[in-house]
Amino acid sequence: MEVVQTVNDVRKALLSARKSGTVIGLVPTMGALHAGHEALIEAARRKCGVVVVSIFVNPLQFGPNEDYQRYPRALVKDLGICRRHGADIVFNPSVDEMYRTPQLTFAEVTRVSEDLCGKFRPGHFRGVATVVLKLFNIVRANRAYFGEKDMQQLAVIRRMVADLNVPIEIIGVPTVREADGLAISSRNEYLNPAERRVAPVLYHALQEAAGRIRSGERDAAKVRETAMAILRAEPLMRVEYVEIVDPSEIQPLSTISGPVRIAAAVWIGGTRLIDNVGN
Ligand code: AMP
Repeated sequence: MEVVQTVNDVRKALLSARKSGTVIGLVPTMGALHAGHEALIEAARRKCGVVVVSIFVNPLQFGPNEDYQRYPRALVKDLGICRRHGADIVFNPSVDEMYRTPQLTFAEVTRVSEDLCGKFRPGHFRGVATVVLKLFNIVRANRAYFGEKDMQQLAVIRRMVADLNVPIEIIGVPTVREADGLAISSRNEYLNPAERRVAPVLYHALQEAAGRIRSGERDAAKVRETAMAILRAEPLMRVEYVEIVDPSEIQPLSTISGPVRIAAAVWIGGTRLIDNVGN
């Protein structure tokens, strides 16, 4: 496994693969790797001749009062995980390397970015789309792997790729969960033991809501209220949003007539958790 820090070096490391037409797979991450990331690396490993994992905590996608400074960083451990799960190249650029010139150009996916997390994290998806497009242009992979846990992010990237004719195939990977249902996230590390005990209620509330749809409920407000009531009953939780949305444009629905995603964001103490399920 090769570990490279610069745009030039990652391109050099991929020269022979590109010449021979080997399929290049990219797994973009912010590090602090866990079983969710491992599933993405393994999915890439199964279908691609060369697997590139990028590890970059992207300042552009954090708001001024968000956790950019305290976001967990664990490069040595991450490299071990990448090696064990079959990565060929790890691209770990510095902030200066990624943003050599002050960024004046941005990728902005309107509508898809505007509700749910977009409403509460202004500029977040613009930062995500911009860094992901930069990574696509740096690595020029054939395929890129993203987790369904970040459903709105996946929809934003799919739409960016479609709208801008970016020559890459986007693959979504199902959410990896702890045994009690909590979606695995680098931010779970912030939870203290009492907070960690209530965290799975987020997934259970979404599942209950999905169950109501499966038993025939078509009124999104009622489905939403099912999840809300469960979440509000937890004194340690503060609900940011619960929404029923269409999976491609992430628009809140009032009537359910096909496949939807039920998505929520909650705060537990100083930690923000998100999750989503289908019907
Ligand atoms: P992050 O490092 O949190 O930016 O995540 C990097 C990639 O891993 C994103 O595509 C995430 O959606 C994905 N990911 C994070 N957690 C999970 C999980 N529990 N299951 C599946 N994919 C995940």
